[in-house]
Amino acid sequence: MKKSDKILILGSIGLDTIETQYGKKEDLLGGSATYATIAAGIYGSAIPVGIVGDDFPKDGYDIFSKYSININNIETKTGTTFRWGGRYHENGDDRDTLFTELGVFEYFEPIIDEKDSNISWLFLANIHPALQTMVLKQCTNSPYVITDTMNLWINTTAKELRSLINETNILLINESELVELIKTDDIITAAHKVLSMGPEKIIVKLGSKGARCFSKDEEISIGVYPVSKVIDPTGAGDVFGGGFVSGMSEGLSVYDSMRRGTALASFCIEDFGVSRLLNIRHEELEERINSIK
Ligand code: AMP
Repeated sequence: MKKSDKILILGSIGLDTIETQYGKKEDLLGGSATYATIAAGIYGSAIPVGIVGDDFPKDGYDIFSKYSININNIETKTGTTFRWGGRYHENGDDRDTLFTELGVFEYFEPIIDEKDSNISWLFLANIHPALQTMVLKQCTNSPYVITDTMNLWINTTAKELRSLINETNILLINESELVELIKTDDIITAAHKVLSMGPEKIIVKLGSKGARCFSKDEEISIGVYPVSKVIDPTGAGDVFGGGFVSGMSEGLSVYDSMRRGTALASFCIEDFGVSRLLNIRHEELEERINSIK
């Protein structure tokens, strides 16, 4: 595989309890940075940034070590690791958050290792926009910034989020989050409103319907790789993001980067947590990428 530029990836690192129609699993390795790091790390380009408690399991560290260029920006602090619980509805797409325990994330103040602060690619995966801004400010080489977010921040920290969006090159967002952010059901109008807020592109993630990328004068749409049994959709968006950024950092087109992200996300949802992602064969990944239009 082609070696890409390094990507600094900020996000949550946690232990998830997930209930879907296929069962319930506790304390699975999860978090937006985790999913994104594994996806980008398959192509060898990830440097994760996050914090864990002293209860974080050894296999969590092992997985990060395997998929990261270095884990110097993962801080371990006395206390409990971030925990999140979610239950999916029968339709497999909608979910309820059952609990969010910030643990050591509550007082997290990321300090980026000097050796990593001159990166050219920054993926701000879903986390509090104040943390996303803190990391962006420490990057010394005006990186290309790709930002993801969620409805919680749209509803609780709108001002901070808007100023971060202004400094973002590409915003990744779910369809329903875009509707909440811009307060219109019309996706095309909403996407162009976001473009007027600063980003050069916005990618709207449509779940099982694929994704659309809007820029001022172009729109690119792609579908999905059909997965017959969606066991656990958690992290699909983060995996899409990690795969997408790794493609961009290698100089692939936006379309091909979206195909890579989409193919990786199709593996993510085939099993609980990150387990299927850890067992992707190169040929099956290539086959899925090539089949996505
Ligand atoms: P996704 O399915 O792409 O929304 O990502 C799910 C991941 O986001 C899970 O592994 C959770 O640990 C993580 N997560 C849930 N809530 C939050 C939050 N408020 N901030 C950061 N990460 C979160």
